[in-house]
Amino acid sequence: TKIAMYNVSPVEVPYIDDWAKKNDVEVKTTDKPLTSENVDLAAGCSSISLKPLGPITEEIVYQKLHEFGVKCIGLRIVGFNTINFDFTKKYDLLVTNVPVYSPRAIAEMTVTQAMYLLRKIGVFRYRMDHDHDFTWPGDLISNEIYNLTVGLIGVGHIGSAVAQIFSAMGAKVIAYDVAYNPEFEPFLTYTDFDTVLKEADIVSLHTPLFPSTENMIGEKQLKEMKKSAYLINCARGELVDTKALIKALKAGEIAGAGLDTLAKESSYFGHKNVSEDDIPEDYKTLAKMPNVVITPHSAFYTKTSIRNMVQICLNDQLTIAKGGRPRTIVNQ
Ligand code: NAD
Repeated sequence: TKIAMYNVSPVEVPYIDDWAKKNDVEVKTTDKPLTSENVDLAAGCSSISLKPLGPITEEIVYQKLHEFGVKCIGLRIVGFNTINFDFTKKYDLLVTNVPVYSPRAIAEMTVTQAMYLLRKIGVFRYRMDHDHDFTWPGDLISNEIYNLTVGLIGVGHIGSAVAQIFSAMGAKVIAYDVAYNPEFEPFLTYTDFDTVLKEADIVSLHTPLFPSTENMIGEKQLKEMKKSAYLINCARGELVDTKALIKALKAGEIAGAGLDTLAKESSYFGHKNVSEDDIPEDYKTLAKMPNVVITPHSAFYTKTSIRNMVQICLNDQLTIAKGGRPRTIVNQ
């Protein structure tokens, strides 16, 4: 069995080497994205694996993969909108993805941001850096997490991992989800959306982005939250109306925000040397606030995540090569 991997980053290499050795499979790699110029790397391979940054639009690429005998395009990520499904159908190519790789990675970032905000680290830091003020003013006194209520919107793979960690820390965890899962009852109490907003000291979002969840947190919802509450969004930027969030933070309607995702982030998150003009004003406004913590969609970025993305994808390709059925086929 031979597999060609595109878009390979240095952090993936040890996991690829390890997997290839253990499974006795030849894996050919390139750091380049798949194009008609380098599709030949896939000659003689039963599968290719991609982590595409942009859409793969050239028909010749799909046609050549078919001619080479490639059976599957294995995406090492969740998203698959970069693949042209008309061409995969025409050239008889399966497409797999990795929908779950490490819910704990995102859950741990959520907890980290919440604790950072709760202990007002950014605000202390700002006072030390800007004013050389090292004192403990009355308004910066913190609460301890076991006295607080954490409210989750969406408890799937990630939300439930967040609930487990916060409940292990002694917090009361309440949650709203359109679906009820009895397995999560030991560490959370299901309630309705408005109760989560009204009662939680930390409101954390963990739903997918759908038309029905876009801007689920706007002016009205922010007003329903406690003035002392923090909003965490490590899910998708568009779940929050950013303008309304900025307004609420400026007006002191909520105490702060932790954001690993922001609406329209793809033009700058994940890029370097981003020009001043390409950084949105909303980001600049939020980044200046000491009671806001922003990370560049890096919640997923752990060794475990990267290892799992590589291994789950390659395991699927090996299953296919042996005539079996992989865990997730996205185009059938
Ligand atoms: P999941 O599908 O396992 O869980 C989502 C949950 O949301 C489900 O239980 C579903 O019933 C619920 N839900 C759907 N619509 C809802 C609504 N309107 N109100 C309340 N609940 C609703 O997904 P997951 O793997 O836990 O991912 C959750 C979010 O995290 C997604 O938005 C995903 O894009 C994001 N994510 C972020 C990162 C990162 O690095 N920051 C990495 C991976 C995933």
